Amino acid sequence: MARLTLALWLCLYCCGAGAGPAASAAADAAADAAAARIRAHVAFLADDLLEGRAAGSRGYDLAARYVASEFEALGLKPGGAAGAWFQPIELLEASAVIAAGEFSIERDGQATRLESTVDFLPLRDYGAAQSSVTGPLEFVGYGVSAPERGYDDFAGADLQGRIAVVLSGAPPTFDSEARAHYSATLTKLPELVRRGAIGVVIVLTPVDEARTPWPRLVQRSWFPGMRWLDADGRPVDAFAELRRAALLGRAGAAKLFAGTGHPLEAVYAAAEAGRPQHFALPGTATLAGQTTLARRQSANVVGLVEGADPVLRHEYVVLSAHLDHLGRGEAVGGDAIYNGALDNAAGVAVLLEVARMLSVDGRRPKRSVLFLALTAEERGLLGSDVFARHPTVPGALVADINMDMPVALGPLADWVAFGAEHSTLGPVAARAAAAEGYALAPDPLPEEIVFVRSDQYMFVRQGVPSIYISTGTRSRDPAIDLRARDEDFLRERYHQPSDDVAQPIHYPSLAGLARVNARILRAVADAPARPAWNPGDFFGSRFAPSR
Ligand SMILES: [Zn+2]
Repeated sequence: MARLTLALWLCLYCCGAGAGPAASAAADAAADAAAARIRAHVAFLADDLLEGRAAGSRGYDLAARYVASEFEALGLKPGGAAGAWFQPIELLEASAVIAAGEFSIERDGQATRLESTVDFLPLRDYGAAQSSVTGPLEFVGYGVSAPERGYDDFAGADLQGRIAVVLSGAPPTFDSEARAHYSATLTKLPELVRRGAIGVVIVLTPVDEARTPWPRLVQRSWFPGMRWLDADGRPVDAFAELRRAALLGRAGAAKLFAGTGHPLEAVYAAAEAGRPQHFALPGTATLAGQTTLARRQSANVVGLVEGADPVLRHEYVVLSAHLDHLGRGEAVGGDAIYNGALDNAAGVAVLLEVARMLSVDGRRPKRSVLFLALTAEERGLLGSDVFARHPTVPGALVADINMDMPVALGPLADWVAFGAEHSTLGPVAARAAAAEGYALAPDPLPEEIVFVRSDQYMFVRQGVPSIYISTGTRSRDPAIDLRARDEDFLRERYHQPSDDVAQPIHYPSLAGLARVNARILRAVADAPARPAWNPGDFFGSRFAPSR
């Protein structure tokens, strides 16, 4: 298969580009130039001067100004609010005061105190700097009600005035998209609120704890979270009815379930087997804690290539990548700047290269194309949520093609298109990849539910067919094991200060990603019909029932 792909790639370079070694040399030179431009963008965006581009920080604003200037230099039109490059967003930043978190259980006149960072992590409260809740505990399995799958953790449970105890994730018996949807906080927390819960304790499953070890979660707990504020200044999706929330690892869960008649291992086993479960836990719990709250401003950056067709120009195809990263945080090896070179300076650099390709091409697409550098992805997909709900352009958004964290650490032979199976964008992406000499691999880790973990999901939730192109693991050089490099990145440098330009980033592969995305954009923008969800698709029938 790899050899076949390489043959196709070589063929395209000679036949597709017009034949002859001169044309091939010109294509090589163009590819080199594209790789150099992408390297230059990454070098700036991931520089220590930008201090990790945290949403709401000066470093992010500098990065946003850079992207706007690049858009301007390329001849794009401002597509933001009021004819400007930006879509300003009001944010509420919340940091849990980890040491101030309290969690105690009263049972048969006995009080058990859980210890912050050892047993539990207090979660942020967007509603108040100081908050607490006391109440009886009700365990409700995964906290999932999925009638269409004949699954209901809540059947007969009473959450009114109680603190809900739920497992992270969703039943492993669900297919991956249903798991993705039902494990998302945006699905789970409103369900608990609707049923009258007054607080929530999330217990990590052993599977989730193996994926993200407890010490890593403790290290990340210091990062602030954010919510965007609506026109009335209220935080959106803050779920204030849940007055406090805490996260428990295995040590804390063992204390919570000890002596209740419900052994923790049996609870885990039932969850793993996909059996719904709920029961009241004896006694009451008190959760208390503090949150540092601050107002911040940040902005999405929007560049526009207006469509040439008088009718179709009112439809918009979006290419998106998040521009923010984690900012400054706990120092690791003396380095406190989380540069986010692959996550996601690389994605934005590719986006700028695609914008350049479309603007120098000279042939305008039929539909309009929006280039969107998004803020606050790392704080909960906020920039994309605001844009998808309140677009700065007057027409319909017909597709989102997203890029996040292209881990190009060697000469890639394939890309993965997350979400390809859900809409007509899948075949379009496959043809685009093939035309550039790449294979398009299926999602290698459906259990990681990547499709709902980056900005495309917020477009999906507004019914917009979306796709997310990221790196595969097949190498053009048999001496380089890209799967090992990818795993090494995820284990050692993902969301760490060492995700910086010292890594062996393979810029020609990123140039390849730009060409693939440019082809997808062109194909979608010029097609007679707009993209559509596949008939009966899980996301399409949930979020776009009338389309
Ligand atoms: Zn990230």
